[in-house]
Amino acid sequence: MTKLYRNAAIAEAIGPELLLDQSVLVDDRKIVWMGPDDDTPEAAAKAVVVDAGGATIVPGMVDAHSHIVLPGGSHWIDRIDDPTDDLLQVAEENGELAHRAGTAWFRDVGSPPRDGKALALRVRDAWEGRTDRPYVRAAGAWISKVGVLPSTIDVEARDADELVAAVEQQLDDGADLIKLYLDGPDPDTAPWTAGEVERAVQAAAKRGVTVTAHATRLEGARSGVLGGVDCIEHGSVLDADLAAEMVKRGTFLVPTLGVMASWETFAATTTMERFAGAAGKAALAARNTAAFESVGLARRAGVRIAAGTDFGGGSLRANQMAWEIECLVSAGLEPWEALGAATVTGGELLREPGAGKLQIGGPADFFLVHGNPLDDPSALWRVWKIA
Ligand SMILES: [Zn+2]
Repeated sequence: MTKLYRNAAIAEAIGPELLLDQSVLVDDRKIVWMGPDDDTPEAAAKAVVVDAGGATIVPGMVDAHSHIVLPGGSHWIDRIDDPTDDLLQVAEENGELAHRAGTAWFRDVGSPPRDGKALALRVRDAWEGRTDRPYVRAAGAWISKVGVLPSTIDVEARDADELVAAVEQQLDDGADLIKLYLDGPDPDTAPWTAGEVERAVQAAAKRGVTVTAHATRLEGARSGVLGGVDCIEHGSVLDADLAAEMVKRGTFLVPTLGVMASWETFAATTTMERFAGAAGKAALAARNTAAFESVGLARRAGVRIAAGTDFGGGSLRANQMAWEIECLVSAGLEPWEALGAATVTGGELLREPGAGKLQIGGPADFFLVHGNPLDDPSALWRVWKIA
């Protein structure tokens, strides 16, 4: 079917400027033309017209840090042990929620192994070709040093040889990327040296796959960056030297600030000591301040920042990308830069040239909102429709 989305604004997050009086012609789920209303080609005469007056077309978002088989909420950690069928059902709900909220891509960065294989890989394969679900690139299982995470939810290694073997196993299972867990049992020591991380990165690179690293502490992040991972997840504590090194190497940062913003809401909506108790609130406030400062520092240094909710592996829900974008703005990104983090930069991180962009000849992965998200991220909560 041919559809003409007529008289919309377009928010491509490559600058602060909103384009007005624009039309987009879609045929067979591809963008075949886009431009000013007045230039609409003859070919559009037979198209079904969608009067998009007053709405803004936004490229489908890339949730660069997601856990598609997990539900989020204040009990997110408990849910990792739920039965396999329940988690598969959760994935379906997440896929639908995110699709309807404007997310076109999931970068899944860890799921529990079930029946010998990370569960998100199964979901990725099941969604192949579905137009009502985001595209999925999935990391397989978390790979961590023995003794850090409960052994039922991750794949563990005792030494660098086992680390490389764990990477090979995830690749054999079909992982699109590799996720290392670089928080260790001792907060001030990285679980693996940069040299050990580098062995894992090289093993993956031989098969054309990148490695990313969970690191909420400085030493783990440093090991990851110096070891050659392509991205630091969370990066809650960075310093100027490390940010400069990330710029030099082109290492991405996916901050997931929304997790802490959501924990702050749990102080009011739960009675859990961790969130509502005085000590819990003070610890959270300190962590929050450090994480927002790290993002500000990274942004000023010029680190490439992509947006991810951490839904499921953290407490956000699958349809809350807007929340993360609002947090990135609070941390110092211009609203259009924050939308860029959620679209074009996420696509670069995935190495998917069409992701997060509107291009003639590219897929019609866009959604329509009310308001100008290049100026006001809350517009992204006001989704009208998905193309
Ligand atoms: Zn996560």
